[in-house]
Amino acid sequence: MTYPVGLRLEGKKVVVLGGGQVAQRRLPALIAAGARVTLVSPTATPSVEAMATGGEIHWERRPYRDGDLADAWYALVATSDPDANTRASAEAEIHRVWCVRSDDAAQATAWTPATGRSEGVTVAVLTGRDPRRSAAVRDAIVQGLHNGTIAAPHHRERTPGVALVGGGPGDPDLITVRGRRLLAEADVVIADRLGPRDLLDELPAHVEVIDAAKIPYGRYMAQEAINNALIEHAKAGKSVVRLKGGDPFVFGRGMEEAEALAEAGIPCTVVPGVTSAISVPGAVGIPVTHRGVAHEFTVVSGHVAPDDARSLTNWAALAQTRGTLVVLMGVERLAAIADTLIAHGRPADTPVAVVQEGTMATQRLVTGPLSAIAATVREQDIRPPAVIVIGDVVDRAGTTPLTDTPR
Ligand code: SAH
Repeated sequence: MTYPVGLRLEGKKVVVLGGGQVAQRRLPALIAAGARVTLVSPTATPSVEAMATGGEIHWERRPYRDGDLADAWYALVATSDPDANTRASAEAEIHRVWCVRSDDAAQATAWTPATGRSEGVTVAVLTGRDPRRSAAVRDAIVQGLHNGTIAAPHHRERTPGVALVGGGPGDPDLITVRGRRLLAEADVVIADRLGPRDLLDELPAHVEVIDAAKIPYGRYMAQEAINNALIEHAKAGKSVVRLKGGDPFVFGRGMEEAEALAEAGIPCTVVPGVTSAISVPGAVGIPVTHRGVAHEFTVVSGHVAPDDARSLTNWAALAQTRGTLVVLMGVERLAAIADTLIAHGRPADTPVAVVQEGTMATQRLVTGPLSAIAATVREQDIRPPAVIVIGDVVDRAGTTPLTDTPR
């Protein structure tokens, strides 16, 4: 592994040994970076010679000798004499000068990446020992930046407004391509505790990241405060991403936010996400449907208990179905949910899985029969966020080996 870095060579002495093709290719970038280049070489190609005559570099018309690298910040060793190259790299080592070597990359302390530029962006690609591949990757990126297939936001061209982005269940790879692009283009990101929090670390320093749970709400409801923050930032001309866990329209209050924005006259777009209701069971090898086992699945919120007057769920009817029940926000009320389902006819031995922090490194799974699962969850200290899956599909967990996603 190499460690990539951008050298700021303005006014710094750089020594180039050898005035051939390698120097000719590399010198323009060194000059453009403002380096004080000394070329040591008995001969030079006509264009290198022109750089010397034009005063862009200082040319010492002689072979390399010991001491040439003593006060250099950076060196490019590219003479046609392997012995001189070896001596020069040894000297670079002594003076701790990072040194690129054209004839023997293995002996060099620095490698030159394949570089390209596109509208103020420098692209530098290192692939180890495969310069053609580096160049190909560089070309693809530069081309992508030119034609817009790679999102490279220009502040001046941004459209203010809000994108409600479903971030998926938590694994940063499980956001959509569109979600990721909008995130990369955002000025302000208002994020929940759920979802791909790792992606927030990757955002450039100028992006304002706001934790939705920490917005002070004073006399407002917490949700109103979030809506107001979205509206304010968008009105200030910012492009705002409201990053939500899973899908914005599955128990995510996405439509409330969309309505508030519409009322304030702010453009709003919704980007779907991978919902935890399906992906978290999937992460432990449970399909929410399976031929011959379950022909339906129902996603239910467990945020209020079945006997709560605010409940809009007909648990008695759900107890009568054969299909899969997926309960979100239900860990705290699992005992009441299980009792209600059994009382209305679900067999007490129906298998149940509870998956905490699915798709994340901290993922945990417990299983057990409907009659005992609440006790198991308590004993094992399973905590939110967790998805509860009830139904015969749970027996599929672990029956078929599924490989972990490469990260
Ligand atoms: N819009 C989200 C759900 C929001 S409600 C979605 O589509 O996934 C919040 C609930 O989602 C949590 O209480 C939990 O039940 C579930 N949840 C979200 N992410 C989860 C994860 N990675 N692991 C387990 N449960 C998760």
